[in-house]
Amino acid sequence: MISPLSFAAGAATWSLAEYSLHRFAGHAPRQRQSEEKARWFDGDFGSEHQAHHADTRYFTPTARKVKTAAVVLAAAGTLGSLAFGPRRALSFAAGFALTYATYEILHRRTHTHAPRGAYSRWARRNHLSHHFSNPSTNHGVTSPLWDHVFGTHVEHGRIRVPRRHAPPWLLDEQGRVKPEYGDDYELAGPAAVVAAQAA
Ligand SMILES: [Zn+2]
Ligand SMILES: [Zn+2]
Repeated sequence: MISPLSFAAGAATWSLAEYSLHRFAGHAPRQRQSEEKARWFDGDFGSEHQAHHADTRYFTPTARKVKTAAVVLAAAGTLGSLAFGPRRALSFAAGFALTYATYEILHRRTHTHAPRGAYSRWARRNHLSHHFSNPSTNHGVTSPLWDHVFGTHVEHGRIRVPRRHAPPWLLDEQGRVKPEYGDDYELAGPAAVVAAQAA
């Protein structure tokens, strides 16, 4: 039987892990990153995440993600066992694993699929502002909760997206920002400068 309380605790724990892994491992100073490489999982979250920032079409290969997930889930299972006892640990791990998987899918879709409602519009603006406005802000991908708690939430206004990083859903066939996204995003980079001068 699934225990709703332990399940919710697992989901909340993932939410905090999503924020902390991204902020402290994904954006750790370089020296700490190499120490983490030795100590942490083989997936080396820090350098993988920096690779994703350097090229937003890059996502960690699935096999490596599975390895990382195994380590993270084992830690979550142990934590759940300690906090709730072995019987409820399964519910805790299920809540954790489900929100973890949701995060993985949502993060990828943020870059690859157009928004379809208020939440997905928010999720794209929030995450793309982390990428392109200020990577020290808006670390949460599925929720702004911990950014509010730790004071890293910032509303960035219209987001300047470097042309080479522009997600395909943002642009029309001529490579311009589609009109429906004009309030949220603008392009930065050489072609945008030429266009501005021509205007
Ligand atoms: Zn991203
Ligand atoms: Zn990041």
